[in-house]
Amino acid sequence: MHEIKANLHPCRHCNETGTCSNGKERASCNACAKGHELSKRQRYFGLPCAACNGIGQAEPKTERINKRVKPVLAMGIVFLLLIFMFALALTGNSHFPEFLAFSGTLIGSIIAFYFTHSKQA
Ligand SMILES: [Zn+2]
Ligand SMILES: [Zn+2]
Repeated sequence: MHEIKANLHPCRHCNETGTCSNGKERASCNACAKGHELSKRQRYFGLPCAACNGIGQAEPKTERINKRVKPVLAMGIVFLLLIFMFALALTGNSHFPEFLAFSGTLIGSIIAFYFTHSKQA
């Protein structure tokens, strides 16, 4: 729990309230209305802050990118290993059993890592 908290910083847009009141007369600002795909012409009150999705705590942008890149990278590795396995099996390579054992362990650990971490995020 402490590790997750360290990655967040108080949202400056909504002063940690999670509700945007940066517009006129404490209405929600245009940016947040746009974030919720609402018309700019109308005024909305108490919209969830679009900067932090209404939780009052925002993630640094790099953290968000990491969370998106890691699963993609992991899936890319798994995909590549599967292609290699397929190619080796087709060509009847003598190293196929070794490669199968190696990539099987690697794919297993990548998937295990991905699933245990995605639950916390
Ligand atoms: Zn906010
Ligand atoms: Zn706002």
